[in-house]
Amino acid sequence: MHVFPCRNSTIPFSTVESLNQFFRKHSATTVANLILFVFSSVQLVYGQDPQVPAVPDTISVDVHLRGGTVIDGSGDAARQIDVTIKDGKLLFPSSDQKINASWEIDCKGLVVCPGFIDLHNHSDGEIENAQTRAAMNYVTQGCTTLVTGNCGSGPIKVDAYYEHIDKYGAGTNVAHLLPQGGLRKAVLDSSRVEPTESQLDEMQKLAEKAMQDGAWGMSTGLIYVPSSYASTEELTTIAKVVAAHNGIYVSHIRGEGTTLLESVAEAMRIGRDAKLPVHISHFKAAGRSAWGLVREATQQIEAQRAKGYKITADQYPYIASSTSLGATVLPSWAREGGGKQLRARLISDRDELEPLIRKSLKRADDGAAIRLARYNPKPAWIGKDLATIAKQNDTTVVDVAFEVLLNGGASVVKFSMNEQDVRHVMHRAWVATASDGGVKVPGPTKPHPRNYGTFPRKIAHYALKENVITLEQAIFSMTGLPARILSLKDRGLLKPGMHADIAVFDPETIKANATFDQPHQYATGIQFLFVNGQATIVDGRPTGALPGRSLKHVSTKAVSE
Ligand SMILES: [Zn+2]
Repeated sequence: MHVFPCRNSTIPFSTVESLNQFFRKHSATTVANLILFVFSSVQLVYGQDPQVPAVPDTISVDVHLRGGTVIDGSGDAARQIDVTIKDGKLLFPSSDQKINASWEIDCKGLVVCPGFIDLHNHSDGEIENAQTRAAMNYVTQGCTTLVTGNCGSGPIKVDAYYEHIDKYGAGTNVAHLLPQGGLRKAVLDSSRVEPTESQLDEMQKLAEKAMQDGAWGMSTGLIYVPSSYASTEELTTIAKVVAAHNGIYVSHIRGEGTTLLESVAEAMRIGRDAKLPVHISHFKAAGRSAWGLVREATQQIEAQRAKGYKITADQYPYIASSTSLGATVLPSWAREGGGKQLRARLISDRDELEPLIRKSLKRADDGAAIRLARYNPKPAWIGKDLATIAKQNDTTVVDVAFEVLLNGGASVVKFSMNEQDVRHVMHRAWVATASDGGVKVPGPTKPHPRNYGTFPRKIAHYALKENVITLEQAIFSMTGLPARILSLKDRGLLKPGMHADIAVFDPETIKANATFDQPHQYATGIQFLFVNGQATIVDGRPTGALPGRSLKHVSTKAVSE
């Protein structure tokens, strides 16, 4: 059993100091009168005023989580208190109250904390699909909210999307970002052109509507088509609309390799010019030649934060990333227009494209660092790296890449990060945990294990085993911090009155079972999970319940108009 430190109960030095100053500044008579006043007020409240209702001796609740170690999501130390749920909200009983609960759960030896908020999720389609909306691979990780619309892709009709979720339910709550790639596609298709005045105006109008309908901000995916075709100025212009609704700018930045610093600088410039908080998605330095650069990027961000700018990031706790093979080996100009056009270009412009692909593969350990995650034409290749496939088929790595791209591409897992860099980023108090994954169901593919294991891995491996961060910090990075980044005010913390999104896990057994070789393995150790007060896991087993609903951002602009 892990021992949790007790909460420090001494009065902070600053409080003692200011009390001393107060007594020095005021005469003895004033102080005496003040003490008399306070004393009589206390008497009035607790002894004499019949209008103040007495605290009831017994309270009736729906669920009583008894005897657990509570980590409230604020980063504060763990403490031993009881937590109860009544009508979908949290209620903290006082120590002398008798609790009358419909369901009492013995949480001795278990950690009780807010349900996890996955700030970077790609389940836009899956959460609407009857086969996948229970989000089992996220429920088993302790997630109670998924944030969709990331990396510039996903639905742009926010009202219809939220309506669908509320009609059918989901295993988790869903908060959505307006995807700038989808927005651009709606107006300019996938072409690499600058928008005209009226096209820019049209994009702003769509952004205005999305923000009014409850989007929490706007995301970009600046390595993807067509998100990447937007200039800094174009992004700033649309971001101003988002800022007017107090939304955030979330970015998969233009470069995560050797161009990391200028890419972070671009995101921060957009935030500064459009006057809104900036959030950098899956913060990392990718590729051996960029290793260590993330430390400089960290300093760059912290220098801006020190000046008062709101800049945050998220991270998944693995050294491999995952995206499409096309985005991994080809620049975005070569991918203009989508799949069909790319196929034609691969044939007609092979001489021009081949050196680029060769260079990308060289940087990925000559193809050994890239594994196929999903590739329907040849299932036998799934899970193997490109160098191995080339060797087994007596061909070159470049030829393997061409074959896959000509067959419509594949999703890949790329081992591109440095473990020390990952730990350095994890230490930052402004870096949230996020999976960058999506809802999956077991099958013949070999997706990134982050889809099944991000949150338990950070807790079990990085906090409890490796002590890279404390358990309280790990939980803060997946609860209180993402809620603060989104300005989600009524979730992410265990406080009276908050919505009852609660995870209860066993610190002895919590584990991410998914590996790169066997990724379709559900995490274990989450004993109970509540979404809006309803159980999605009981005694370690998912209930299949769909209590999740859409979480709508409330724009201050909409209120004041
Ligand atoms: Zn991304």
